[in-house]
Amino acid sequence: MNVAVIGTGRVGVVTCVASSVLGHDVIGTDVDHDKIALLSRGVPPFYEPQLEDSLAAELASGRLSFTVDPAEAIRTAEVIFICVGTPARHDGEADLLAVERAVREVGRHAADGALVVEKSTVPAGTVDRIRETLEREGNGRRVHLASNPEFLREGLALRDALEPDRIVLGVESDAGRELLERLYRPLLTKGVRVIVTDIRTAELAKHASNAFLATKISFANALARVCERTGADVSAVADVMGADARIGRAFLDAGLGYGGYCLPKDVAALERLAARLGYRFGLLEEVERVNAEAVRSLASKVEDAVWNLEGKRIALLGLAFKPDTDDVRSSPALALAGQLRTAGADLVAYDPKAASEALVEMPGLEIAADPYAAAAGAHCLVVATDWPEFRALDLEALGRAMTHRIVVDARNLFDPAEMAAAGFWYHSAGRPSTRPDATDDALDRERPPALAAGSPRPEDPWS
Ligand code: NAD
Repeated sequence: MNVAVIGTGRVGVVTCVASSVLGHDVIGTDVDHDKIALLSRGVPPFYEPQLEDSLAAELASGRLSFTVDPAEAIRTAEVIFICVGTPARHDGEADLLAVERAVREVGRHAADGALVVEKSTVPAGTVDRIRETLEREGNGRRVHLASNPEFLREGLALRDALEPDRIVLGVESDAGRELLERLYRPLLTKGVRVIVTDIRTAELAKHASNAFLATKISFANALARVCERTGADVSAVADVMGADARIGRAFLDAGLGYGGYCLPKDVAALERLAARLGYRFGLLEEVERVNAEAVRSLASKVEDAVWNLEGKRIALLGLAFKPDTDDVRSSPALALAGQLRTAGADLVAYDPKAASEALVEMPGLEIAADPYAAAAGAHCLVVATDWPEFRALDLEALGRAMTHRIVVDARNLFDPAEMAAAGFWYHSAGRPSTRPDATDDALDRERPPALAAGSPRPEDPWS
């Protein structure tokens, strides 16, 4: 089939590559001409595992290309995916300006019988605005509408696109359904579950899914506050809860809370949609409150751990909102960095992929080349993103580099007993803090060696 993808961001590029892998002829287009230039050369404009190789393979196959001219992409397309961004407006409502602009391009250039598919996450009922826009500004040709919400996870995006848990087809005509079933046939024949429904249900199902995931995370964080007051261990509580098939263990990890491009804006958009329609979705207001509290709680733990933040060297491991991505949009790690800096900490950060994106958001942030360089001279080390490589850190080397062996683990990556045995004062989210194990010889270790010449050495008010 001929497929057009409007908006070649994180979802659009993956939609392009996955549709090409399924055997379709795909043209991606974007208003960002730099992005199109990079993609045409086979360079993904962001980090996503396996994407670079797959992009190169699909470009080489001749099925995939990119253009800055929307007409070129749309004119011959049987299926037109709208994958533009839908960020939050200042009042929490979804900003649908990019969707409107994309739809106007579609109206001008779409072929008779083409299917226009919302893949961007939009509030229920957006399809009506799309229909009106096409009626008012279209070229008079008849197009079909559908919603096919995207559930991919950054870091696992290609796998999720090609091996999804489910494909949701929100349709209003047999023709729309048939076109989407043809598009996804290779996945359907492999047994991927398809849920066919009406467009509004599909639109709402996406917001509802993200809002529910956020609710699970906020539940775990609220529980963490109770665990901290009772001495219980929130990870163990979550294990017990998660063993119940009705609950499930995923998204019950306490820590810094949810972030990224989708969950915060989608929770806000659903809450605003409900309010606009006369229903106060108070549960979601509380989910947001608990989420904001999660970052503040961890910032207070860091302050408690070092007594006063002013002048303390704090090493922050992780800036991306989750591992395996360089995306820092609404990253709780960056929010924590901001709070620590505002409180006077001398912050140095390390992230395997997200440093340059973080510098755009937080100019002047000191970036270290690796975790051990970040730890050099630090009074406290904070784990803010659960990159797998942080689990494998050499604790002894880390401790030796630091001024004080204090770790605040905002992602509960480490085992408190092991941290105590390794000589650390260790604090995490919703679990009892531990002190250096007195029976271990860690307490007798020498003070850290002097830093190499030229390394930053903050004034140490304790020494
Ligand atoms: P993104 O910001 O990475 O990409 C959006 C792209 O749209 C940008 O490249 C931008 O230049 C382009 N664009 C804007 N207006 C345009 C126009 N008029 N014509 C052509 N291109 C235009 O956003 P994203 O992360 O890919 O998200 C896109 C949508 O998918 C959002 O609605 C989001 O909620 C949803 N979604 C995102 C994810 C995710 O993990 N990122 C997952 C599922 C769904």
